[in-house]
Amino acid sequence: MKLVYILSQRYSGSTLLSFLLGTHSDVATIGERRKFYIHSFEKKGSDTLRCSCGQFFPDCEHWKSLKEGVSDRINIKTINTNPTEFRLSDNKYIRKGLFELLKLSLKYNSPLLRIPLQSKLKSFSQFNRVLVEESLKLDGADVFLDSSKVIDHLIFLSMIEAFDIKVVWLTRDPRAQVNSALKYNKWSVADATERWKIEMQENQFWLKKLKINYVSLNYEALCHDPTVEMNRLLNFLELNPEDFSLDFREQTQHIMGNYNMRLGSDSKIVERKEWLETLSQEQIRTIESMTKDYKAYYSKTV
Ligand SMILES: [Zn+2]
Repeated sequence: MKLVYILSQRYSGSTLLSFLLGTHSDVATIGERRKFYIHSFEKKGSDTLRCSCGQFFPDCEHWKSLKEGVSDRINIKTINTNPTEFRLSDNKYIRKGLFELLKLSLKYNSPLLRIPLQSKLKSFSQFNRVLVEESLKLDGADVFLDSSKVIDHLIFLSMIEAFDIKVVWLTRDPRAQVNSALKYNKWSVADATERWKIEMQENQFWLKKLKINYVSLNYEALCHDPTVEMNRLLNFLELNPEDFSLDFREQTQHIMGNYNMRLGSDSKIVERKEWLETLSQEQIRTIESMTKDYKAYYSKTV
């Protein structure tokens, strides 16, 4: 089964990209696959978040059908930790320890280290495979798009044999990313920049280690020339560009992700450049001096 994964840091435009790719007739997506279980089985009637179609999750027909399809094939009662979040344990310390063990086993090619995790990994694999199969069936598509973003999830997905994975690594200008990170966290500019760099290095490391086939896409370039960038992307994904549309606002899609995303009603895709007004000159200089080696990721339109 073909699975396309959007790997990106937060606030990089991954929701926008999910909507764009979701217009393709061969693509099925629910946005962030990781959130499927919580919305379908954990929150039950109390879910007050909305699907991108405008309905609350428990009321959305698409979600109901997908949930039914999965429940028919998997005994939900036997599941004790969230399989779409790949929760190895409900205890956060144990979970962290087990995940470190998993990464070590992959880093040093030692499957023996994974023995304590085997039954969990097997149940994760089964659940996610069924979810993807049901989603493809429901949409009559053959490529499943997952915008769960984080590298940790890609590590788990890469271990599921049924998936043939291709990654779109979506990046954004570090100055814009740091600006967004500062809005939501109490970090200094240097801290936020350092975190950005570490995440870039982590992503690079794992893509190489897991030998994953990927293409890079820059958010600013996508906004600047969506036709060219989307064609390049579709070509890499072996999807026919003729079955794709930039008018993603015209279609009803059932996507979970950034609920507050300002999709707007504008027919154009506009690059968000708030950082130019929000960051001080000194802050910009700090970021630029720390990201000298990453100039390829800077916006070309500033
Ligand atoms: Zn919906």
